Amino acid sequence: MLAHPELVRLAEHYSRAAVTDLVRRELASVRQAAAAGEALPSPDRIAERVARAASERWAAGPRRVINATGVIIHTNLGRAPLSHEALDAVREAAQGYSNLEYDLEAGERGHRYQHVAGLLCQLTGAEAALMVNNNASAVMLTLAATSVGKEVVISRGEAVEIGGGFRIPDVLRQSGAKLVEVGTTNRTYDRDYQAATTPKTAAFLKVHASNFRVTGFTHSASLEELAPIARQANVLLLHDLGSGSLISTEKYGLAHEPTPQESVAAGADLTCFSTDKLLGGPQGGIVVGKKDLVDRLARHPLARALRMDKLDIAALSTTLLHYLRNEAVEKVPIWRMIAMPMAELDARARRWQAALGEGATVIPGESTIGGGSLPGETLPTRLVALTAAGIPGGAQELLRRLRSQPTPVIARVVDDKVALDPRTVSPDEELPLLQQVQQALRQ
Ligand SMILES: *Cc1c(COP(=O)(O)O)cnc(C)c1O
Repeated sequence: MLAHPELVRLAEHYSRAAVTDLVRRELASVRQAAAAGEALPSPDRIAERVARAASERWAAGPRRVINATGVIIHTNLGRAPLSHEALDAVREAAQGYSNLEYDLEAGERGHRYQHVAGLLCQLTGAEAALMVNNNASAVMLTLAATSVGKEVVISRGEAVEIGGGFRIPDVLRQSGAKLVEVGTTNRTYDRDYQAATTPKTAAFLKVHASNFRVTGFTHSASLEELAPIARQANVLLLHDLGSGSLISTEKYGLAHEPTPQESVAAGADLTCFSTDKLLGGPQGGIVVGKKDLVDRLARHPLARALRMDKLDIAALSTTLLHYLRNEAVEKVPIWRMIAMPMAELDARARRWQAALGEGATVIPGESTIGGGSLPGETLPTRLVALTAAGIPGGAQELLRRLRSQPTPVIARVVDDKVALDPRTVSPDEELPLLQQVQQALRQ
């Protein structure tokens, strides 16, 4: 097989050893199939399969895809796209050297947190701030640095699973803190926290219900209620905010998503949130709060293990500047998507429909926030619905074809049709989207 012209060419492109390995795998599966009674493929066919396996296995990733699902913060699709300015900052920081940990004035070692901490304090009203790899790390570090060997009181309704294996009780255990659950799944009062406080209590932990909603006969103790109780008992008030929107979501017809500013003002000692959910930046986690506590976190060995990398710091500081300059809604892609007016959605959907022809119709639909933020909340949108009536395999087959395009298109099915939502497709993705949809329909 290695003498096959296609594989000789492949071995020049990659290495002979790597191609040999792929040939062995392919031959093993051919043998297995033959033993099960299948016909032997020709050498040309085997070479073709090896070449395909090479291009699938040895491609750089993640690959660019077009998100036509209308799910704005799509965790599986990489959450928040960055602004042009943030992208430039990443390129700049990656291309050469930078003053990442260098004090240009003094000419000596500086602090990696300096680039973002000041902006965060300005935006949230906190005394100090720290950035780590993601919000899961932020929560872990917060608990490890404040509550190891001690008790952390949490409402039964807030000992939740966020997704991807992040369960608050497990994180507490891993951090070395002991979980003390209080209240019930639907109702927890401030007096429940008070009654559970002992000399071993290190903190009260409030966790925002990011990805689910409890309705009906419910009650939870607010930060405002818990702050004086925590202060009097000399325990910390910690808040895992999850998404942490810096902008009021209700301006856009959505439910209120709690903000870090509110958390700080309500008296939380430390507040943790993600940087790639409603903040619309790169992957990261932030802790804001009291200076002595943030300093304690920064000195903890886990801070080094969980630290944010320079490319994310560059993207984050640039993203935060958009908020400080009051231009976030125009510049930060997820906010542009959330704020996109119906007239624009409608005009774009009609343009797509005209380009895609008969099988396409414009229908009303709903976009969602996603990323475990604002569950159940939707934004009205316009969808371009593609009929899959003439395609064997129907809508699922059309979805598969869209995913197998050079720049995969991810869409969803609405009433047996494949629906494309313009909200999450950026203007420069429109042309490739339309070309590839046409290709998939013709296939
Ligand atoms: C999303 C979320 C997390 C995890 O944040 P990542 O940035 O994904 O690590 C933790 N807690 C809450 C409440 C969340 O919503």
